[in-house]
Amino acid sequence: MTQEDPSRGSRSRLRKWLGIKDEERGGEAELDASSDGPRDLTARDIWLPAKRRMLNRVSEFLIDHDLEVMPRTLGIAYDCVTNANPKLSQAILERSELGLPITLAWLEQTTREHEGESAAEQLNTLMSRLEESLNEFALTAGSARSATSEYGAALQQHVDDLEQVSKAGVVITELATLARAMVSRTREIEQELNASHTRVESLQQNLEEARRVADEDHLTGLPNRRAFELLFDKELALAQASGESLSVAFVDIDHFKRVNDTHGHAAGDRVLKVVAETLDRISDSRCHVARHGGEEFAVLFRALTPEKAYKRLDAAREEISERRLVNRATDMPFGRVTFSGGIADVFAYPGKSEALRAADEALYAAKESGRNRILLAGQEPPPMQDAA
Ligand code: GH3
Ligand code: MG
Ligand code: MG
Repeated sequence: MTQEDPSRGSRSRLRKWLGIKDEERGGEAELDASSDGPRDLTARDIWLPAKRRMLNRVSEFLIDHDLEVMPRTLGIAYDCVTNANPKLSQAILERSELGLPITLAWLEQTTREHEGESAAEQLNTLMSRLEESLNEFALTAGSARSATSEYGAALQQHVDDLEQVSKAGVVITELATLARAMVSRTREIEQELNASHTRVESLQQNLEEARRVADEDHLTGLPNRRAFELLFDKELALAQASGESLSVAFVDIDHFKRVNDTHGHAAGDRVLKVVAETLDRISDSRCHVARHGGEEFAVLFRALTPEKAYKRLDAAREEISERRLVNRATDMPFGRVTFSGGIADVFAYPGKSEALRAADEALYAAKESGRNRILLAGQEPPPMQDAA
């Protein structure tokens, strides 16, 4: 992957900037020569070469991927070479294997998604724990409530009976007074338990709402990537059980950066919402559209062959490409907004991730062959013609 000659000059400039000598031996020699007092052999012999190797790998990462040297990219490169962010390292490896470029835009989107994912995972774990506790409490409170009310009714009966025979003596009268106090306390407890039960019910509803929000993309209202993963597992199990087909598609808006650059991010958000609405119109109980991240969407089609899924997605593509969207803030036309897509037959691949990769590759081929088109995985792309 490293391009020998073109990168040699910039590599050496970057190494210089990072304070690394071109030859490790030379670097150490200079350090040795410049040290005055007694030297700490352990530190020099162990930590300095290790540090140097690590910095070399950081600089190689930036040069190999043609990334600018800036705090953000240095941080990412450090995370990758030290494996401080295993998910990111894995994503970079997979993308490199596909021969796709590791750009700053892609890195930022991927790190944002990973940050979002782990926050969502933590939130989900917390919510599951809270849900379990609430369910347990609701059960305990429910049975305590019915026990209290049965116990209260029985106690009341005894008090009534005791009053009938109160002539029997002072002891019985005292007992009746005591029992009356117990009845009233039992009623209070019952009321408290009722109030707790109402509070638990409302908390359970809030929790359900929080779960919905955690699964939803806040801009488009579509299921987010996390929810898509869950939907994929569910639909895969259903399709396997019923013998139905299952296709998966990746969709990416064409030249979306231009929209942001020309009209601003807020207008870009509105365009994203229009595309999301257009795509969402093809969804039903067996077809799910999700925002996978950035300006990319994922679609699942159960009980549709890849060819039929293609037709459905292509109709949405045609619909959006024929619209003439106008920036309502400035009355400037957005120009033609188009998207490209790649579809894969899930059961033609050994697993979910291979099928997703095939759909991603087909999307990449659709982009390469001119955009504003959908390609089926394995399909030969048409000759290059930039339709977007
Ligand atoms: P291509 O046809 O190759 O996909 O080109 P592109 O310009 O669409 O792709 P690129 O990856 O270069 O740029 C995608 C842009 O999408 C960059 C990023 O800022 C923008 N983007 C990602 N998420 C959002 C978002 O939520 N809102 C807005 N307005 N822009 C976003
Ligand atoms: Mg994209
Ligand atoms: Mg795009």
